[in-house]
Amino acid sequence: MDLHDLHDLRAWLPRALTVAEEWGGRFGPYEGHDAHRVTATAFDEAFDRFAKRMDDNYPFFHPRYAGQMVKPPHPAAVTGYLTAMLFNPNNHAAEGGPATTEMEREAVAALAEMFGLASSHVGHLTTSGTMANLEALYVARELHPGRGIAYSSECHYTHERMCHVLGMEGHRVPVDVRGRIDLDALEDVLRGGRVGTVVVTTGTTGLGAVDPVHEVLALARRYGVRVHVDAAYGGFFAILGRAGTGGVHAEPWRAIAECDSVVVDPHKQGLQPYGCGAVLFPDPRAGRHFAHDSPYTYFTDSELHLGEISLECSRAGAAAAGLWLTLQLLPLTVDGFGQILAANRRAALHWAQLLTNSRELELYQRPDLDIVTYFPATADGRLSAIDEASGRLLRDAMTADPDPVFLSVLRADADAFQRRHPRVVRDAEAARVIRSVLLKPEHEHYLPVLHERVSELAARATAAP
Ligand SMILES: *Cc1c(COP(=O)(O)O)cnc(C)c1O
Repeated sequence: MDLHDLHDLRAWLPRALTVAEEWGGRFGPYEGHDAHRVTATAFDEAFDRFAKRMDDNYPFFHPRYAGQMVKPPHPAAVTGYLTAMLFNPNNHAAEGGPATTEMEREAVAALAEMFGLASSHVGHLTTSGTMANLEALYVARELHPGRGIAYSSECHYTHERMCHVLGMEGHRVPVDVRGRIDLDALEDVLRGGRVGTVVVTTGTTGLGAVDPVHEVLALARRYGVRVHVDAAYGGFFAILGRAGTGGVHAEPWRAIAECDSVVVDPHKQGLQPYGCGAVLFPDPRAGRHFAHDSPYTYFTDSELHLGEISLECSRAGAAAAGLWLTLQLLPLTVDGFGQILAANRRAALHWAQLLTNSRELELYQRPDLDIVTYFPATADGRLSAIDEASGRLLRDAMTADPDPVFLSVLRADADAFQRRHPRVVRDAEAARVIRSVLLKPEHEHYLPVLHERVSELAARATAAP
């Protein structure tokens, strides 16, 4: 891990033990039981085997990892999570953990404020973006029974899957040349009258494309249709977007507050360990759809129990603690958390520029956020050759010893490819391109090294065997 982070953790982690110990000491002495006691020798041996197994991993923390949207949690998140984990609160209800329930409320309020939602919102943390989206689509179904969901062909596959789970009709809408939902095609679908809610994505998982939320919203309202925003990956860019800074187009982000629900994953951009998504509803009446099988009866719009507005039961209070502590130190402002996103964004724009001038690589599409897509430049521009070179580049880069680079690939179909690069030769249905998510600010400084190394590997991947 980052040496800096480990240094912080060495200092901070013992405090987790102190907090748990001092608190526990208040409840008086009792005799331990041998049933789960293990010897130091047995632990040493097992831990050695465990540590060895952990060798088999990718260096997500290092800027030479420029593949999927993964990075280790912030030391503050680890410390908060671990401390709370020693208490093991369950945020399914306030009695499961009063302290972490309050932290969850405050952290969720901070996320809501990041999107510009009024304080009357309801929302809660979930274990993932998948669960958060499921809840939003569930509310969509309860509000428009018998009507379906429209989503773009670039949206996360979870929406199609969850429509199936919920027994709703899914309507797939094509995208424009930048991978954003196509408004004309969407209007055609809405005219049919079978859609109750449109899903827009601010930061698609593949390309990081930001749907024009403001335009979709205006269109949807004309047809009496709701709008759900899937900001699982991109959501934290609302900090820059709403402030109109960092080269992030403001309008889609400012329109989110007027939509009907929004999902964000603190375990992606938000520096949290896995197990931390969130769903928010500007209108607190959304909470009612979760209430029918709850033993509680005294709902007011503002005082719903977190467990009563969630489809999940047990939820880690520790996840709320990690997020809460992180937000104390890195508030969701342009000068706080925004600094991280601005660095990611600068790295992406810088790389896009280097790729535009590169001989070995070509930019696939200009990044809206911090996902950069590109492919090895081939002599004749055949899609099959590009596909093969991308595959070879990925493999060579990951297995290079020394000096590996970790990338990911994205499948671009021939139509999508040709709209962006009219001169490619269509001799295949699709081609893989390389995808790099630059979600660590360390990428900003490392970028020239990264670009140099990937260029070198690309030149080799396209050379005649
Ligand atoms: C990651 C992602 C999801 C799924 O979230 P998980 O936390 O992986 O379950 C949904 N939508 C988008 C846009 C995503 O990027």
